[in-house]
Amino acid sequence: MIAPFRYEPKPARVLFGAGWLADVAAAVSELGGTRALVLSTRGQNKLAEQVASHLGALAVGQFNGATMHTPVAVTEEALAHVAAMKADCLVAVGGGSTIGLGKAIALRTDLPQIAIPTTYAGSEMTDILGETKDGAKTTQRTPKVLPETVIYDVDLTLRLPAVVSATSGMNAIAHGVEALYAADTNPVIALMAEDGIRRLASALPVIMTNLGNSEARAQAMLGGFLCGTCLGSAAMALHHKICHVLGGMFNLPHAETHTVMLPHTAAYNAEAAPAAMAAVARALGVNNAITGLAALKLKLVGPMSLASLGMPEEGIEPAARAAVANPYPNPRALGLEPIRAMIARAFHGTA
Ligand code: NAD
Repeated sequence: MIAPFRYEPKPARVLFGAGWLADVAAAVSELGGTRALVLSTRGQNKLAEQVASHLGALAVGQFNGATMHTPVAVTEEALAHVAAMKADCLVAVGGGSTIGLGKAIALRTDLPQIAIPTTYAGSEMTDILGETKDGAKTTQRTPKVLPETVIYDVDLTLRLPAVVSATSGMNAIAHGVEALYAADTNPVIALMAEDGIRRLASALPVIMTNLGNSEARAQAMLGGFLCGTCLGSAAMALHHKICHVLGGMFNLPHAETHTVMLPHTAAYNAEAAPAAMAAVARALGVNNAITGLAALKLKLVGPMSLASLGMPEEGIEPAARAAVANPYPNPRALGLEPIRAMIARAFHGTA
């Protein structure tokens, strides 16, 4: 029996495959852009230059200050560049941090965006924007921030460092896992989630041994696209909530926090979401989703724990309280004591 469902795909043009970057000028023109501002982090300055050279006369400048967690102060600095250069289009090339900056500018200017992701975080497929100001992170959903065009050029990921590949890949898998048990999940989302997890889980270990393996990179990128679509279309639950809390309270790195927490949050919800866990196990090619996720995490990043990411032990209690403060749909009821115990296990890195 198929339960009634509502599915609202987010409108975006997606260009997937090696070599699409060469078509970025055509993509800008298709959106009516004539003066594109290229966004990146400082570390991806060279890649931004490459994008600008493909754009030729359509590029009016670069802003290389994108920063994790999208600080509003950085957005304001970038907005000054947008105004000074009379930009009419944004081209964000990089991971979730750079794509977040493009979204933050689009929110305030309505400029069309082309996102060129170089990690597996998935932000390019969502209408979600997280921003930080004075140490506090706020998240909103609005169609204004959804990029109009997404270019997934696998060639840009061939030198993505191992740790960013592994952790942004686990971040993507987390979108898929939560989409499978989301309160508003549906058969279309479930297809994308299971297939996305399967592609990432098989490709990431190969990438760890050979960063430049283009077939594994393509599989991981397609998995990231599918799981990012799930993030944009289904309501996330305990896992994303707790990572948001931990990241905000202790300034922990985003993708690493997702990587550490995923086996623990899946274990928390496992008994209450048997069909989702069966799908995760199938995708991982194992009998048990929880031990499968823990083994994948260990294979990719080793014994990473919340303690090793810099969280203070005395933070366990306030984090648990914050995670249960505002109720939201989750397969298993949110209990302070079991959530405190779960965070403690993730802190110490115990199974
Ligand atoms: P990131 O964008 O911070 O990138 C991590 C580092 O890797 C950066 O220094 C970047 O310059 C570098 N890098 C990226 N691609 C590279 C490449 N191909 N080669 C070499 N270096 C490269 O990390 P992320 O995990 O992609 O994104 C995390 C951010 O995205 C967080 O701020 C998170 O909140 C946000 N996010 C938002 C959503 C959403 O839907 N709004 C979804 C997922 C993540």
